[in-house]
Amino acid sequence: MTTSSHYDIIIAGAGASGLSLIWYLLQSEVMREKRILLLDLSLEPTDAKTWCFWEDAELPEKDLIYHTWNTLEVRAYDNIYSEELQRYRYMCMRSLDFTRSILKMAHDHDSITCMEAAVKSFGSDNGRGVVHTDRGSFFADWVFQSALKPANFDDQPVDVSLKQHFMGMEIEVNEPIFDPNKVMLMDFDTSQKHGVTFFYVLPFSKTKALVEYTFFTEQTLTEQEYIAGIKSYLKNRYDLGDGCYTTARTEIGSIPMEDRRYPAWYTDRVMNIGTVGGLTKPSTGYTFTRIHRHCKSIVEALETGARPPVSNRSSYRFRVYDIMLLYLLEADPAICKQIFHDLFKRNSFDKILQFLEEDTHPGHEISIFASLPYTPFFKAIYKMKHRIVTGA
Ligand SMILES: Cc1cc2nc3c(=O)[nH]c(=O)nc-3n(C[C@H](O)[C@H](O)[C@H](O)COP(=O)(O)OP(=O)(O)OC[C@H]3O[C@@H](n4cnc5c(N)ncnc54)[C@H](O)[C@@H]3O)c2cc1C
Repeated sequence: MTTSSHYDIIIAGAGASGLSLIWYLLQSEVMREKRILLLDLSLEPTDAKTWCFWEDAELPEKDLIYHTWNTLEVRAYDNIYSEELQRYRYMCMRSLDFTRSILKMAHDHDSITCMEAAVKSFGSDNGRGVVHTDRGSFFADWVFQSALKPANFDDQPVDVSLKQHFMGMEIEVNEPIFDPNKVMLMDFDTSQKHGVTFFYVLPFSKTKALVEYTFFTEQTLTEQEYIAGIKSYLKNRYDLGDGCYTTARTEIGSIPMEDRRYPAWYTDRVMNIGTVGGLTKPSTGYTFTRIHRHCKSIVEALETGARPPVSNRSSYRFRVYDIMLLYLLEADPAICKQIFHDLFKRNSFDKILQFLEEDTHPGHEISIFASLPYTPFFKAIYKMKHRIVTGA
């Protein structure tokens, strides 16, 4: 065993969660002097994702925010509900800017070793975490991993396992047709034959926008099917034929939407973070701000020598809401369009975002549910009672 196989902290996976953790470690006078190993298959900055969120209080690198919108729109049954946000701003960060900036900080910092390696598995050794890779095994007091599904992942009970899957095309047009202040959060006026389906449009200027074709379903589509859907949407909604725009980039993704409880620990000293740590909100797919809050709390604990905390899991109430909504997304997609329509028609958008952020109190939540059709939710409670009763 060589000295360089021992570290204070190993971060396996340099995506959103691994690099957020690096950022918080570098902000800490105590922690930035620790010996840290950052591992990933590739340490090249990646342009694969556009991360959106609506809370900036604790986010790192605020200057990396690419665009901010103050108005959200939702469309269903040919009605458009549009509202200027009062409490929040909706914003996005490009993974290219985020990964490039934080990887540079990591490379420039003497106590951080950056290594490209394929992680094979994790283990424990005399109270330390071990990472087995194709370039050898590495040991640390604490390992934070976002690279592999935990070994006991498949043992966790799961009733609903959907995906939020999508393809986005970033297009540029000659004529000014977009409003860069307004996001089309969900446009449900499209075929729902696969299940819950909508378009999401993020305009970055009057002539540039990311247009995403999004599904909350079990099966993904082929790339050709996503592209055909986007093309037909551009034609129907904006009268843009094939020759009327250029495509600057595309992004494709699949985010888990499950009632499974993700194991917090891989082994006693290896913590799961990010998506594999269960940080995704099951009913929406939003993960980014949860990752940041978790990484901040990890660094605060490490500074005091405490055991890193598992992520702030949803409280029982919000877990039940997620379970009910997941059930409906899977079992009754048709009613979901009506539910989303009523939700955005009858509640302020800020209140809905606050609810999705799990920052509301029970009175708020009762008033939101009172604005929605009751019967499907009673059915969901009945069908999912075995999960709801135990909170499992
Ligand atoms: C296209 C896309 C868009 C998204 N947009 C949003 C959004 O708008 N808002 C939001 O809140 N959430 C969004 N999400 C969900 C979530 O925020 C992101 O997926 C986020 O990147 C998850 O961070 P992570 O660190 O868990 O995983 P990742 O960012 O995927 O990082 C995991 C890292 O592990 C590395 N790795 C994997 N296997 C190995 C191995 N064997 N050895 C070594 N390294 C390995 C990978 O190379 C990768 O760098 C999006 C997801 C996708 C796919």
